Amino acid sequence: MVRLKELYDNIEAKLCDGKSGNDIFEARFEAQCIIRHATGKGYRSTILRDPDAETTDEQAADAQEMTLRRLKGEPLQYILGEWEFYGMNFCVGEGVLIPRQDTETLVELVTDEYLKDGLVCADLCSGSGCIGISLSRLYRTRMHCYEKSGKAMEYLTRNIEMNRLKVNGLVSAVLADVLDKAVIEAAPMYDIIVSNPPYLTAEDMKNLQTEVTYEPEMALYGGEDGLYFYREILKAWSKKLKKGGLFAVEIGMGQEKDVMQIFEENGIEAQTKKDYCHIDRVVYGIKK
Ligand code: GLN
Repeated sequence: MVRLKELYDNIEAKLCDGKSGNDIFEARFEAQCIIRHATGKGYRSTILRDPDAETTDEQAADAQEMTLRRLKGEPLQYILGEWEFYGMNFCVGEGVLIPRQDTETLVELVTDEYLKDGLVCADLCSGSGCIGISLSRLYRTRMHCYEKSGKAMEYLTRNIEMNRLKVNGLVSAVLADVLDKAVIEAAPMYDIIVSNPPYLTAEDMKNLQTEVTYEPEMALYGGEDGLYFYREILKAWSKKLKKGGLFAVEIGMGQEKDVMQIFEENGIEAQTKKDYCHIDRVVYGIKK
């Protein structure tokens, strides 16, 4: 039997040993996440209020095993098996991109300014479904989440199922390659199309943070210059957007000029929105 406080101190020290690159605040946060996942206890308040609470040997062993995985570089999100995005929980694990806070910028733009009841929307390269599912939470909009990877599709369908009550059964998952002509032809006309496609360049792929190397290359690599999917998606899918409809995509740092130009080549006058780090994160425009 191990006391909660001992387990916490032990894991925090391991996560902050200088090798893992964590500072003390990250180590504390991650130790809390791991202990909470393994024991059901572990919010800071619980640890302070009830430091002598007992944890079973099995719980402590689970927490230690998770800590070892973390120290080898596996992302915390995969170890926990779920992650929060825009106030909702999403299942994640090997084979699907982890939802990032940057992507909330795209969701915020669409929900704050463009979404209303009765629309039909598409989320291309949906992955975990975090964008499409979050968008469908506040309005009665139909959302088609397109995903090509069978593995990511498992998470997508699970996430739709898990959040079913919040999204009123209006979100559906489509296992399909968004660059496949037959898929594009079969698609209906949309009021809103959003996407966070793979956008890392060949150079970026050589310098990935250890954690990111665990994520699927298919969800990260956007061709030599990172722009392949913007070119192909805009060319094909701007034809599937109704007049007056919104096209909005997430971009990587420094891609705004190129992606705005791609929008304009496809007849959509483009603007950008910054994320909370003041980096242009979304390119969007209305089809005339
Ligand atoms: N934002 C991701 C990263 O920084 C990349 C995701 C993507 O390519 N859409 O690793």
